[in-house]
Amino acid sequence: MTVAPPPLVQVACATCGADRPTRVAHEGPLGIVRCGGCGLLYVSPRLAEPQAHYHGDRDAVLRKYGAILRGERGHNRDPNYEQELGVLRRLKPTGRLLDVGTHCGFFLRKARGLGWTLVGVEPSPIGAALAQEFYGLDVRNALLEDAGFSDGSFDLVTMVDVFEHVGEPMTVLGQVRRVLRDDGLLFVKVPNGRYNLFKYRLFRRLMGLREVEIFDAKEHVVHYTAETLRATLAAAGFKVTRAFVPLPIQDGARWKCALRSVAHVLARVQRALGGGFGPLATDIAVVAEKGSLGHMLGRAAPSHSVRPADSEKAL
Ligand SMILES: [Zn+2]
Repeated sequence: MTVAPPPLVQVACATCGADRPTRVAHEGPLGIVRCGGCGLLYVSPRLAEPQAHYHGDRDAVLRKYGAILRGERGHNRDPNYEQELGVLRRLKPTGRLLDVGTHCGFFLRKARGLGWTLVGVEPSPIGAALAQEFYGLDVRNALLEDAGFSDGSFDLVTMVDVFEHVGEPMTVLGQVRRVLRDDGLLFVKVPNGRYNLFKYRLFRRLMGLREVEIFDAKEHVVHYTAETLRATLAAAGFKVTRAFVPLPIQDGARWKCALRSVAHVLARVQRALGGGFGPLATDIAVVAEKGSLGHMLGRAAPSHSVRPADSEKAL
């Protein structure tokens, strides 16, 4: 018996609504395209239910993460979480922190005892339950829009390695804006789409590999660059006030970790010299505050149209 392939869907740009993309890469049947309206890199066609596997098998999650949940070992992202929390503590040291897309609570567990009241929201019942059971975290099992949070009830909202999974970014950002206090801050960390595209081309053109999985396109449905992230946030009423090149997420062979570390140093030098977030920055981290809703991307502000290497210095 053959298993039917999972259903795919063609989607328009989730940020500006345009539907005239150009394909720049592919992973099997999944396309990575650049929006003709605003320059956003996103996946189309993509899986109809790209996050479905998070709702699957509790035992499989425990096999993968049990030792971390039980505290027998750390998470390979702990250095990343510590860096991010260090930045956030300086900017907003107290108050109510909402982590959107909490997964099993690995980020929030590192935020315990640092001065915030912690709340998470996680659509996967498995992730939310494990975060509650193992870390005693207050994690609601819901989509943000269904979680019942009051307007202006949080001082800080975090989306750590999450926003690239979100197929409807404007909906989520609208909810984030609603639940944030007027003086609240939003922190977003995503993979750098420019890094992934660079790596994809390097592997295919220089190394001759025809099928490479760089984008994790099955579940990462949008691939932001620094300027498309800034523009998407601006369209939802957020103003980026701070941005930095975060530490790379390290896993795999030692030589890969070493290469990422070298790339990280070079990426930080490039940014320090005014070069923005180039192809050596594995990820992008930004802090944003509530701004005006005046400049809607792609509709009223064609200047947001993005060419590669365009306008990054604004960050
Ligand atoms: Zn677009």
